[in-house]
Amino acid sequence: MSGRYDGASALDNIKQVSAGHAAKRSSYGSAPGGYVWLKPRMLRAMKSLARDGYSFRVTSMAGASHSRTSRHYAGIAFDVDYINGLKVGYGNPYWRKFLQRCRELGATETLGPGDRGHSTHIHAAWPR
Ligand SMILES: [Zn+2]
Repeated sequence: MSGRYDGASALDNIKQVSAGHAAKRSSYGSAPGGYVWLKPRMLRAMKSLARDGYSFRVTSMAGASHSRTSRHYAGIAFDVDYINGLKVGYGNPYWRKFLQRCRELGATETLGPGDRGHSTHIHAAWPR
């Protein structure tokens, strides 16, 4: 995950989708550029997590540069770096249950502390 301002931040993506548009993808690094629809199965899960009482900061959905075949580019993955006001890491007591809840909500790819490249954020992705 790497970020820069290009109109494809998580907030930009939510605004685009809320307005009925596809979400912008970044076009630097491995990112393919263009646009993609954020899939309802992921958006519904995010809403459920909020309804469960979680507050979380989403750092990326369709935007930013990820691994070449990342599900982010398909609009079915999101990254989170804060859960309930605490930075994601081994000291955060919430991330394991948060990821477990993502799996219950259909995520089939969940990464976090202990997984390479995910010591400070979690990644949840739904099936293609
Ligand atoms: Zn990710």
